[in-house]
Amino acid sequence: MNIQNMTKEELLREKEAAARKYEDLKALNLKLNMARGKPGTDQLNLSSGIIGILSQDDAMVGEDGMDIRNYGVLDGAAECKKLMADMMETKPENVIIYGNSSLNIMYDTVSRSITHGVMGSTPWMKLDKVKFLCPVPGYDRHFGITEFFGIEMINIPMNNDGPDMDMVEQLVSSDASVKGIWCVPKYSNPTGITYSDETVKRMAALKPAAEDFRIYWDNAYGIHDLYDDGDTLLNILDECEKAGKPDLVFEFASTSKISLPGSGVSAIAASKANIDFIKKQMTMQTIGHDKVNQMRHVKFFGDINGMKEHMKKQADLIRPKFEAVIDAFRNELGGTGLAEWTEPKGGYFISFDTLPCCAKRTVELCKEAGVITTGAGATYPYGKDPEDKNIRIAPTFPSIEELKKACEVFIVSVKLASFEKLLNEN
Ligand code: PLP
Repeated sequence: MNIQNMTKEELLREKEAAARKYEDLKALNLKLNMARGKPGTDQLNLSSGIIGILSQDDAMVGEDGMDIRNYGVLDGAAECKKLMADMMETKPENVIIYGNSSLNIMYDTVSRSITHGVMGSTPWMKLDKVKFLCPVPGYDRHFGITEFFGIEMINIPMNNDGPDMDMVEQLVSSDASVKGIWCVPKYSNPTGITYSDETVKRMAALKPAAEDFRIYWDNAYGIHDLYDDGDTLLNILDECEKAGKPDLVFEFASTSKISLPGSGVSAIAASKANIDFIKKQMTMQTIGHDKVNQMRHVKFFGDINGMKEHMKKQADLIRPKFEAVIDAFRNELGGTGLAEWTEPKGGYFISFDTLPCCAKRTVELCKEAGVITTGAGATYPYGKDPEDKNIRIAPTFPSIEELKKACEVFIVSVKLASFEKLLNEN
């Protein structure tokens, strides 16, 4: 069946079949959730050893001579800086370790720019207008930060190799009120795509009209491959350096989806000038983050190789979940013309596009049948998907059996919403 060549009678028959199946599934009173990208309990269990890994007999003094139990070391214990620098493929001197949340660092970075500007430039609160470029579909919490601070968001279409760079270059070079772009460069949230080498080079070669423009490079899924032949991403810090613009980028990352989201380690990586500027604010903010937790991570993983081995174990747990969802979509929706979806090689999400004007209705039908998905529109600034078609699927948290059931409900809801719409148009 393809909707392209279906008669009205055939559409009606398909709608009735979908409605019957929907009612049967609804009668099961399910309670399933595919909304947020949380690791499953089995993934967390892989890292539980972190919690008690340090004992009183362990050396409490780190390489830098500081007692990890005490105040001090603003930018993180030396061993942990090395681990996070290796993870972000940069040097420890370019890294500051924070608490458990990289989102917190991003919020802080924007907040500081509002009140104190970026390396000596005018604080954004004194400007009439501040704008951010937002590749779409994108990460709702990025858009939440910029919306919270009253920053105007401009949608940039995402292609298979990253954001539309012609549009990015044009806006960044011509408009001094454009101060940033949100990027999830590897296994993007939600599309799962990875920026091509050319996209990264073009990012590094941007010629911003604003001296305080920065690329907000949220490399949340840098080592989150599902397969041995994972995607590769060019190093933006190196590329900016080569392009003679070392200060152009802030890179963010964390171990949230490597160790424990509730108790991981996060970091920012940037040029020396950016790092020095950030530290000036930090000295007012804290005497230092949780070094005991930093050392727990160092002891648990050993080094970056240990961390990558650990990620293979995580991949073994979540790969079947991604495959179960993708198989269900292929079997039930492949060739129908009703939907498109991404098939990522890593990360935490699958991006699903319904026919235009069907996402909200699909999400509503799912909810009524006991399956929660991310809200329609959430992947766009201001929650407004102009075509009402994108839905983010997060397959990691439910068990595989739950996921298969949730997919059944989701697929039948897509069908029902689509046939309702097509018949209305006819
Ligand atoms: N960045 C992206 C792209 C994410 O998808 C997420 C969580 O889903 C985060 C950041 C949150 O990171 P953290 O737990 O380090 O705050």
